[in-house]
Amino acid sequence: MFPSLCCVSSPAVHLPDGPRLGGHRSQRVVPDVAPAVGAVLDALPAPAVLLDADGTIVLVNAAWTEQLRHRPGLPVSVGGDYTEAVLAVRDDPDVRDLLAALGELSSRGGPMVSVDVPLAPGQAGRWVHVQATRVDDAGRLVVTHTDITARVEAVRGAARASRYDDLTELPNRVHLQELIDDELAAPGGLPVAVLFLDVDGFKAVNDSLGHDAGDELIREVALRLAAHTRTEDTVGRLGGDEFVVLGRGCDEADAAALALRCQGAFAEPFAVDGQTVPLTVSIGIAVTDGSGDGRAGDLVRDADLAMYAAKSAGRNAVRLFSPELRVAAQRRLWVAGELREAIATDQLVVHYQPLMHLRTRAVTGVEALVRWQHPTRGLLPPGDFVPVAEANGLVDELTRWVLGTVARDAAAWDAMGLPLTAAVNISATHIGSGTLVADVTAALTASGLRPERLVVELTETSVAEDPERAAAQFAELRVSGIEVSIDDFGSGFSCLGQIVSMPAGILKIDRSLVAGVAAADHKEASQSAAAVETVVGLARACGMRSVAEGIETEAQLALVAALGCTYGQGFHIARPMPAEDLPRWLGSRSRRRAVVPG
Ligand code: C2E
Ligand code: MG
Ligand code: MG
Repeated sequence: MFPSLCCVSSPAVHLPDGPRLGGHRSQRVVPDVAPAVGAVLDALPAPAVLLDADGTIVLVNAAWTEQLRHRPGLPVSVGGDYTEAVLAVRDDPDVRDLLAALGELSSRGGPMVSVDVPLAPGQAGRWVHVQATRVDDAGRLVVTHTDITARVEAVRGAARASRYDDLTELPNRVHLQELIDDELAAPGGLPVAVLFLDVDGFKAVNDSLGHDAGDELIREVALRLAAHTRTEDTVGRLGGDEFVVLGRGCDEADAAALALRCQGAFAEPFAVDGQTVPLTVSIGIAVTDGSGDGRAGDLVRDADLAMYAAKSAGRNAVRLFSPELRVAAQRRLWVAGELREAIATDQLVVHYQPLMHLRTRAVTGVEALVRWQHPTRGLLPPGDFVPVAEANGLVDELTRWVLGTVARDAAAWDAMGLPLTAAVNISATHIGSGTLVADVTAALTASGLRPERLVVELTETSVAEDPERAAAQFAELRVSGIEVSIDDFGSGFSCLGQIVSMPAGILKIDRSLVAGVAAADHKEASQSAAAVETVVGLARACGMRSVAEGIETEAQLALVAALGCTYGQGFHIARPMPAEDLPRWLGSRSRRRAVVPG
């Protein structure tokens, strides 16, 4: 096969080095070469030789001679055989193809030979561009050998940069897709697994420690992942805190084991900038059966969807992709598309769930819970659209709408002689955007509601995402008289010290703890009761009031009251209801209470 022309992957030929010839002028051995040819050769910057039709080296130029100075002892000399000399350095089919092409050019003419070749077998080391031209009817050839190593390295460097991540030197998104596609196309029908990893709460770490420390953490994560995976797996980085692990030959069970190993990489806290940083990771898995169907893009996207499900399940979790996740993703897409308009056209509604003071059994407040009155899909719960709003930068706008509505409703109740506190749920992203205090103040100003009537609720896990910023904003709210409440306490695995040091006045005990207090199973009941009692004691010690959430039975109500909770909330007291129903419900309740106390 003739070597491909001007191609960096073409065959490899070593520059024929030879004995020192002395002097820097062209050396001639055949008398009938015109002196002008020697002059022309000498003018060439690249090492060049004139070859006779039989491959004898007739003339070499100054650059050739100069080059040989540095490489003595090689079997090349003026008058020697070019072919023999080349093969003495390197003999393989590619080199022989090139020599055959030179022979062909010498005997028959035709277009010049022009090819890029590595000096050593393979791609490493120096590269030379070999160009040969037939100079006369006798079949003599001028062959030039230009060192193109720098150019080849530059091209290679650019190619590498476009396929590897700068920070971690792991394969980047583009290269990962190539590697996964190669794996999917590989014969043998082995299964292929893609793990999509996203470091939990990394943004908060990055923001609080600074970007240099964040980069160091990412590098450390990359090293640990590489150390915790098998040699046949490939770890790559998509960007930010997102990594992909390609598991070759992994079926679902192998992929689950691989995911466990990846989680193991996070078992020990990370040390950066003199600080200890505990991190966890959410992992989504997508596996093909090795049938050859599918594309890398689909596999990564499916693993991403599974990762999203793992995150929503409370982080530090592993989820396997299932087709329902794709349906849910499509649903999120339309929700995101319609939600902005829904906010602007008042399709959202707020329902209020009463909050009861347990000792007096008086209703002292409400929690505002948003719903979407969708024109065709009916009344949608917040779980269907709040996470989408959070993921699509719409949640601040949504919360501003809720704050405005709630402040107006609460001001109206106040005017009716119903002095209720109204709690509004906010998202972690709102803390991140930094407009919370201004948004709350604007709602109070517009409605005339007294700050003491408003409570801002943030879940324990959201607080843990960025405790410093949350604390700063909570402190500002409380200075203005607005109460702050930590929601769903006991549902996450947050650092206890962090939570109790928050400037908040209310701790809401998650309904998963409350549900157990009246369980039929004695052990479960006593453990849940102990947990609730501990949280109540903790709240009290921190000067906070407690709320038992999700009270569904009279037995639960009696028990949480006995355990010392300040307030209770749950379907047993009342389900969330529209604003207009609340005064009527309160009225009928007080009439009932007037008849039957309790
Ligand atoms: P949350 O703040 O913990 O609100 C309590 C949730 O528990 C409400 O669900 C409520 O209807 C439900 N619930 C109350 N009592 C009981 C009970 O006895 N048993 C059971 N099984 N459930 C009970 P909902 O309305 O679906 O809200 C779910 C979550 O959505 C809320 O949990 C809150 O985190 C979030 N959310 C609601 N409204 C908003 C909002 O305006 N903005 C934001 N960012 N999040 C909101
Ligand atoms: Mg809440
Ligand atoms: Mg709650």
